Amino acid sequence: MAQSRQESVEASSDALLEVDNLRTVFRTGKETIHAVDGVSFDIYPGETVGLVGESGSGKSVTARSILGLVDTPGRIEGGELRFKGEDLVQTGWQEHRGDIAIVFQDPLNSINPVYTVGNQIREALRIHQGLTGSDARSRAVELLESVGIPDAPRRVDEYPHQFSGGMQQRAIIAIALACDPDLLVCDEPTTALDVTIQAQILDLLDTLQAEEDLAILFITHDMGVIEETADRVNVIYAGEVVERAPTDELFSNPQHPYTEALVSAVPTPNPYTRREGIELKGTVPQPSNPPSGCRFHTRCHKVIQSSDYDLEQAQWRGLLNLRSEVESGALEVDKIRQSAAVGEDVEPDAVSDTAIRQQVRTEFDLPQELPDRDAEAVLADALDRLVSDDQAEAGELLASEFVTPCEETKPEFTDHGDGHRSSCLRHRAEYQEMEVVSDD
Ligand code: SF4
Repeated sequence: MAQSRQESVEASSDALLEVDNLRTVFRTGKETIHAVDGVSFDIYPGETVGLVGESGSGKSVTARSILGLVDTPGRIEGGELRFKGEDLVQTGWQEHRGDIAIVFQDPLNSINPVYTVGNQIREALRIHQGLTGSDARSRAVELLESVGIPDAPRRVDEYPHQFSGGMQQRAIIAIALACDPDLLVCDEPTTALDVTIQAQILDLLDTLQAEEDLAILFITHDMGVIEETADRVNVIYAGEVVERAPTDELFSNPQHPYTEALVSAVPTPNPYTRREGIELKGTVPQPSNPPSGCRFHTRCHKVIQSSDYDLEQAQWRGLLNLRSEVESGALEVDKIRQSAAVGEDVEPDAVSDTAIRQQVRTEFDLPQELPDRDAEAVLADALDRLVSDDQAEAGELLASEFVTPCEETKPEFTDHGDGHRSSCLRHRAEYQEMEVVSDD
């Protein structure tokens, strides 16, 4: 269904918006945050493109960059944003101010409480369409009716606080439509709403899109919402797009482990086809210090194993997680001692070094003896150093012995056909053979 609409819009038109290798940076004091780091995608007239990822992944900064709303200390420092073929970064947004409108997450923060809803729609109509007086008022009423606000001729003179949350979001959509946009950027437009109102707003956007031939960039962390709304999806992680595909294809055949984890968390109505949730364990990267190689390697459940060892996948993940915590100083032996004391029902001072070693293994999903002798020797040595209070040496040992190819090489995009692309080293021939061994 969604795919055929996408195919038809692409066949019949040029891209409305092309985002090409966009880089947006925030500089604060000594920190440089690469919030958006090489993001590329396009949108055609009349289609809905999803941008999905966790909080802090760079979705909203991408939206603000597209609208020219990134302000100091943020800056677009690279790439192109072509709208109807014109590079907005070079020429500025002035010419296209009304062509791209935004609907934000929180209605109350994006509507002015001091003016009536009608006033705010009329102001947008005056600026973007030159409408004033009774023409503007009639059009404001029409717009409120088009977004499903009952008794619009009366409610046009009401203030935002007189509207419910769902009605406020409808009013914001009406204000956005008053600009007569070609592209509507919806940044988590339903997140602040309850489920019933959320469904109504999604239906409304769908209807408006069909009536107005609007293109929509739908930004959300909610995979369930994206599955319902988008024709194509871009998955963003730590400022980079890691996978893009038509929606049906993305959900039925995710290729990137991060997408796979996101999809696995979406509930299915049929209990017999329930997806098995994948729990991501590991360190969430800091935007100011993104991981080397594949940025997902600090959490990936399929992170590639060093050819020196032969371990179950969860054990390899556990070793890398231990390494990360020891290296960063996040692992505190005193806390481990306390946990072990609770387990053994003794005072912390009475906890033996052996119990501390066992507790570390337990907390990182590691067995009391790894099946690979070489890996076990390194781990035992590192644990000895830890209990001897030599955290730095333990960290150095783990970092030199437990290394994944995923931290050394940045994966390139692989084309899976029909607009489906993803960036993971496992797509390379040399790693394709590698089995992901689990203990299930
Ligand atoms: S490159 Fe490695 S860490 Fe990145 S997604 Fe692929 S398997 Fe996971």
